[in-house]
Formats: sequence, C-alpha cells, structure tokens
Amino acid sequence: MALLQIAEPGQATAPHQHRLAAGIDLGTTNSLVATVRSGKAETLPDAQGRHILPSVVRYTPEGVVVGEEAQAAAAKDPLNTIVSVKRLIGRGIDDIRSLGSRLPYEFTRQDTAVPRIRTVAGDVSPVEVSAEILKVLARRAEESLGGELSGVVITVPAYFDDAQRQATKDAAQLAGLNVFRLLNEPTAAAVAYGLDHEADGVHAIYDLGGGTFDISILRLNKGVFEVMATGGDSALGGDDFDRALAEWIMRQAGIADDADHHLLRRLMRDARAAKERLSETGQAELDIELGDGNRWQGSIDRETFHGLVDPLIRKTISACRRAVRDAGIDRDEIRDLVMVGGSTRMPRVRELVGEFFAAEPRVDIDPDRVVAIGAALQADVLAGNKPDDEMLLLDVTPLSLGIETMGGLVEKIIPRNTTLPVARAQEFTTFKDGQTAMAVHVVQGEREMVSDNRSLARFELRGIPPMVAGAARIRVTFSVDADGLLSVEAEELSQGVKARVEVKPSYGLTDDEVANMLRASIDHAEDDMATRKLAEERVEAQRVVEALGAALAADGDQLLQPEERQRIDAALGDLQQAAAGDDADAIRKAIEDLEKTCEFYVERRMNNSVRKAMAGHKVDEFE
Ligand code: ADP
Ligand code: MG
Repeated sequence: MALLQIAEPGQATAPHQHRLAAGIDLGTTNSLVATVRSGKAETLPDAQGRHILPSVVRYTPEGVVVGEEAQAAAAKDPLNTIVSVKRLIGRGIDDIRSLGSRLPYEFTRQDTAVPRIRTVAGDVSPVEVSAEILKVLARRAEESLGGELSGVVITVPAYFDDAQRQATKDAAQLAGLNVFRLLNEPTAAAVAYGLDHEADGVHAIYDLGGGTFDISILRLNKGVFEVMATGGDSALGGDDFDRALAEWIMRQAGIADDADHHLLRRLMRDARAAKERLSETGQAELDIELGDGNRWQGSIDRETFHGLVDPLIRKTISACRRAVRDAGIDRDEIRDLVMVGGSTRMPRVRELVGEFFAAEPRVDIDPDRVVAIGAALQADVLAGNKPDDEMLLLDVTPLSLGIETMGGLVEKIIPRNTTLPVARAQEFTTFKDGQTAMAVHVVQGEREMVSDNRSLARFELRGIPPMVAGAARIRVTFSVDADGLLSVEAEELSQGVKARVEVKPSYGLTDDEVANMLRASIDHAEDDMATRKLAEERVEAQRVVEALGAALAADGDQLLQPEERQRIDAALGDLQQAAAGDDADAIRKAIEDLEKTCEFYVERRMNNSVRKAMAGHKVDEFE
C-alpha cells in the first residue's frame, strides 16, 4: 500500500536502518558492482575511477592480482593469468576438454570431477578464481559504502544450469559474501529498465559481450519473468570483431599470418581500440608498430568496417530468429528490445538488430552497466530497504525436473518455467512384492525418455517395509530455492523412512546443449509420445505378468482346473511375446485379452479371500 506510506521528504516512515547491499555482474570479460544510493542505482568505481573490472585473475608468487593489471600481464604470463573463468565454472573435466585446446592453461591431471588449474601459486579451481573477482568487487562496495554488506545479488546467464549456479554461489561463499539471490542476467537488464513495473508483455534482451552472445525472450506475466526462449553463441562476441579488423589490417599492412605473437597481440589491442573509436566517429586512424622501428599507418572508415563485421552481426540475428521461433511468438509481439553488453555500443549492431525486431533498441542505460544496475535494484529490495509492497522479482526453472520411472520414462515433477521457489511432491509406489529399496534418479530436460535428458543425481531410499507391490506409498518432494538450486527428498509414508539429496552435479551442460535439448524436445514431441506409449505399455505388461505370477503361485493349483490353467498360461504367453515387440497397441490388446481370460479367476480369488476373512465371524458383523 504505497499510498499510505507517503512521508515528509527526508523522513522515513519507520526509523529503520538502511542495510547495505550490492548487485554484482560477474561477467566473462568484465565484471561490475552497483548499489542503490538515495534511491538511485549506480555502478561503483575503484580508486582510479574505473567502473569496469576486467574478469582476469593473475597468480604470482607474491599474491593474486585482479583486473586491468592482471590483463596487462596476460600476454607475458599466460599460464598464470586466468581469463574468461566463467566459461569453466561449474563444468566438469569432460566439458572443459571439449572447450579444449582454446584454453592456454594447464589442468591438473587427476581424475577429479572438478578441474583445477596449475599456477605458480598452486592449483586453483574455477570457483576459487571467481571468488577472487568477487572479493575485489565486494571490497570496493564496502569501502565506498563505509560498512559491511548485508548481502549481494549476483547475476548469471539464463541458461546456467544447477551446477553452474551452485558453483557461482560457492564462489560467493568463499569470498565471504551472503548471497540474497542469483538473478538471470536478462532479467536483471529488464529490471534496470523497470519493465517489471510495466504492463505484462514480451521483451527481447540482446546481450553481446566480449566473447559471448545471448538472446533471451522474456515474458512478464503477473510480476514474474518467464524465460520463453534462450539462444545465442558462446563463441561469438566483441573479440571476433577485433579479430576481423586485425586481419584486415594485416592484409593492408602486408603482415604475414605467422608473424610473432607479440605483434599479433599488439594488433588485437590496436584493433579493439580502433573498433571502439568507430562507435563514436566515422573514421579511425591506425598507427601500428611492426617492430624493428617500422610502422604502418592507415585509416579505416565505417563503411569498410561494416563490410568486415556485418557477417558477424548477421550471425547474431539468425540466433534471434531461432529464439523467436522457439518462443512460439511473432516478432511483432516483442514490446521492448533491451541492449546489453559492451559490443551493443556499436551503432551498426543497434541498427541491424533494431531493424530485425522492428523496434527502437533501448540503450539509455549504459549497456556495460545495465545488468549490474538491475542486480543492485533487486539487492536493495531483498535487503529490506523498500516498502513491503515492492514486488519481489521471481524467476522460473529453465528446464523441467523429474525422476525416472519404470521403463526409462521421465515423470516430470516440476515443469519448465515454474516460478521459483517451488516445492512439488508426487507419490510413487513399489513395483514388486516385498521390495524394500527404491532407486531415485533425478533428471533435467524436456524429453520423455530418461536417456534423452540430463542425469542430475541418483540416490536410494532403503528400509521400505516389505509389502505387496503397489501398497507402499513413497512421496518424492522436489524443492527448488530462489536461486534455482534443487534438493530432492523421498519418504516412505507408512514408516516415515527418509532419504534426501542436494543436487550438486559435478559437471554442467553447455548453453548450446540446453538450447539443443529444448529444441529437440519440440522436434521430437511426436516420436517421444510414441516411445512413451510403448514404454508405458511394456511396464504395464510386466506389472500384469508379475501380479498374475504371484497369484498363480499362491493359489493357482487350488482354484484352477488344469484346462483353465492352460488357457491362462496361453494368454500369458501371448502377452509376454507382445511385450518383447515394438507394437504398443498389440501389447495393450494382449493385456486386455489376458485380463478377460482371467476374469473368472480374479472373481474366484476374491470370493475365496472374503470367505477366509469371514471365517469365524458372524455374518452380521459385516453389515
Ligand atoms: P562480458 O559481458 O562478456 O563480460 P562486456 O559486456 O563488458 O563483456 O563487453 C565487452 C566487449 O564490449 C569488448 O569486446 C569490448 O571491445 C566491447 N566494447 C566496449 N565498448 C565498446 C564500444 N564503444 N564500441 C564497440 N565495442 C565496445
Ligand atoms: Mg555481460
């Protein structure tokens, strides 16, 4: 009720302390910290007035150096200077091998789940490297705010999976920070523009950074941002624009491809500076030091530059087209087009992307800082510095979560795009008589079959009291906290036996894989349904066969004539044969035939057990 809380200027409605909070954009190339002061969110500079901290960490025998100084040493000390650690965080050794040769570091050879990088200061994990960046930003915030932070909001890409999110939180913990929340980067950008206070609608967040490109289609629906689709290219960013320009300079200056790497590095640096100047002016002068006192001088105008970079920009637009299609919307449904990332300062990017979406790109907030600013606004709310009615921003699960059931099928427990935090429970039962343990396999993804989804964790519930198949009641509860982290609990309800697992998978998916999984689930929807039907019928067949087997063993000889028994065995054989085949309808029919054949037997068994139950009792007791 904001209206009731109007106070005189400078006078708080309730005398409460303003708790210090900050938002952190932990980027692949650059990181920033922002906070809300006097109602305004702003990024914080270091002592030299620099707001942007390059996400580079250098290990030396004397200690750790972070930021521009570390970046300056990257060329001469590549093995101890870790750049783009965000590409490694929360990834397993296998994922990293696939990123492979592009990384200049030495990984320790042990077969640990979490890779470690060898440096002069010892082996370090991506979590530790990220913690160093966070420490510098947190210290900066505490110095400038004059007190200890009560908590922070850290942003992560929308496609980050559980492992990557957990690892980011671990890094914050290592840096001594209290994490209020992890927030999706595109959501943070939308918050910075106040889109969460506007009417419901669909927005596109176009984020072109140094080494990555992300496009997210968000839908604001009753105060909740749903991720309708994400897409992009994890190997496309400003660096590629630098490379395109550097290669042009090499051709102009007649520099050979195999020039020494000091010259190539200088070229990349000069190309980057020229690229950034071209965002402001129509022409950039170039003055390249070739070595041995030789120089090459020239200039490049915007038109020539566009010829070099347009193919790269068009690649991002193809990804936008796919994302719009995955979101299942028309391009013209997109209301706001928000530009994020340093590379969207290029006027050409704004022009072509704006053309594609037929929308005026929103650029009034500095695209370098917009994510940190959105994070700071959320941190301020979460620190309790806002009136109670201030809407808490909610996120959603990016992929469905479920468990494996019989036949290798996935039972989805929390569907994709469910608002967080969430807890959902579902009851399962035992499949066999006397079954005392149950394996729980937690999977993530959209497909019907376990084998097509990602396995997150396995655990076992033991100590189920022996009962007939189908009698035990096992409740499996999935809880996902506000940061998107999952825990799963299974409980046997009659005896209260419990097993619990925190899902902290040791390796992650690449963003392309997530996109592919989503896409595949759409492409394969029909196949999957057929596969699911077949698997379900097989499971049902097996259940019928086992139940009938148990019954026959118990009282078949007593209740059946040999000729009756033969008929049942024949129908049973038909079902077993059908279940071995691939025809779901044939299995269904064989089950129905068997059930029909057995009707008289089931009836006899029922009468028999009623008679048994009534033995020794007077009939009227049951009335
Ligand atoms: P990330 O999100 O990957 O950490 P940023 O959003 O900070 O990265 O973007 C860094 C990239 O932005 C670099 O490639 C840099 O050259 C580019 N960039 C920064 N300013 C400009 C500019 N004025 N014109 C063109 N590119 C720019
Ligand atoms: Mg970024």
